[in-house]
Amino acid sequence: MNHPLNVYNTLSRKKESFVPIHSPVVGMYVCGPTVYGETHLGHARPAIAFDVLFRYLSFLGYRVRYVRNITDVGHLEFDADEGEDKIAKKARNENLEPMEIVQRYTNIYHKSMQLLNVLEPSIEPYASGHIMDQIELIEEIIKNGYAYVSKGSVYFDINKYASKHPYGKLSGRVLEDLLTNTRQLDGQSEKLNPLDFALWKKASPEHIMRWKSPWSDGFPGWHMECSAMGKKYLGEVFDIHGGGMDLLFPHHECELSQSVAANGKESVKYWMHNNMITINGQKMGKALGNFITLQELFEGKHALLSQSFHPMTIRFFMLQAHYRSQLDFSNEALIAAEKGLTKLMDAYSKIEQLKISEESSFSFKEIYQGCLEALNDDLNTPIALSHIFEAVRQINLIYDGTATISANDRNELRKLFDTIVFQIMGLKQVESEHSNELISEMVELLLQLRQESKLKKDFATSDKIRNELMRLGFEIKDRKDGYDWKKL
Ligand code: ZN
Repeated sequence: MNHPLNVYNTLSRKKESFVPIHSPVVGMYVCGPTVYGETHLGHARPAIAFDVLFRYLSFLGYRVRYVRNITDVGHLEFDADEGEDKIAKKARNENLEPMEIVQRYTNIYHKSMQLLNVLEPSIEPYASGHIMDQIELIEEIIKNGYAYVSKGSVYFDINKYASKHPYGKLSGRVLEDLLTNTRQLDGQSEKLNPLDFALWKKASPEHIMRWKSPWSDGFPGWHMECSAMGKKYLGEVFDIHGGGMDLLFPHHECELSQSVAANGKESVKYWMHNNMITINGQKMGKALGNFITLQELFEGKHALLSQSFHPMTIRFFMLQAHYRSQLDFSNEALIAAEKGLTKLMDAYSKIEQLKISEESSFSFKEIYQGCLEALNDDLNTPIALSHIFEAVRQINLIYDGTATISANDRNELRKLFDTIVFQIMGLKQVESEHSNELISEMVELLLQLRQESKLKKDFATSDKIRNELMRLGFEIKDRKDGYDWKKL
């Protein structure tokens, strides 16, 4: 397949031409959420960034097998492998079964993704459903001499690995520096090197989520699940592995090392990472009081928000920044995004009403090409949007009669919106609840005026109101004691 898509590969630290291993099939794995809490802004960014990639690859004609996992076991409080399992802790605090926590927050995640118009992945595997696959992979790593058993747990042998392979090549971390900065933690005495990470952890007596293994009753280390599920569904080597930059180290670095240790080769051709979201210039965190869930955004219920925001505004806001740029989130920035999106959708709604001329004063084909060029350049959605807004400007000029459009160019314009805006960027037309309410109130008002006109025997006015409302697409039925109406 011939196309000029370039993607930035974190591994090589440069943009590379995208050439799939088994064209036209593309294997893509993105680390999904750890489902122990509400879905928040930090979840939305990778989901939308890789949704655009998924959509764009499909648009280019690839058959994408997109795997996005659910982490429901093994993610401990401190990403080194210490502390309590995040899900188990939440379950204990709320006096629920861990799987109740998993189900509740997975449902919320799915619902939020649907509202953001994020397409479902092809496969959504759960870590807890793939314990055997993880055990098998750990056995491979032990067999190849890169892991050791210690007091029922299994640890990855960093020194052994680093003597043969460059540990830190993905994240750019240097082993010596990491060693100097590593704190002594409990349980570390089990490890040969403080940087060794757990592939399997022996469960303490009070630990609920546990499985049998050759080494102990326990649970897999967090990094294990993605290596195991990526291999299971996409093969030993696949095209794209994505996730947030916060996962680069240790999660992805460990994943890469595990795969090399188990399979003798790296598993991923293109590593792609989205940048983080800050809130009013600060890192998002519960302790800072700036932790915003998507539900709070959709309902406007947060101290930092002056109003509710439609999911499409959130999506549009994210697309305004390149996925590798940091994105600062504020109430004002969202209000600006809402205005931008309204302007875009207003222009779209004018397309069918544009007066057609013999000649066009503008070529929309070039805009379409410009958008594709921007997307081919590592999915540069802000540049693509700037092209779209040039189209918006032209639509308004044509609508006002200061520019012209041919029938052919109007087709180009339809294609531009259908393909770039809706299909690839995944935006949807927004029917705002606010404007719906406003319309209802205005129709009621007009129909009451009509009733009053009828009482005064002013049938000219009452007929006029009725006819005009019908022309605008409202159905009106008179009853003995009033009227019924609906929008057709
Ligand atoms: Zn992962």
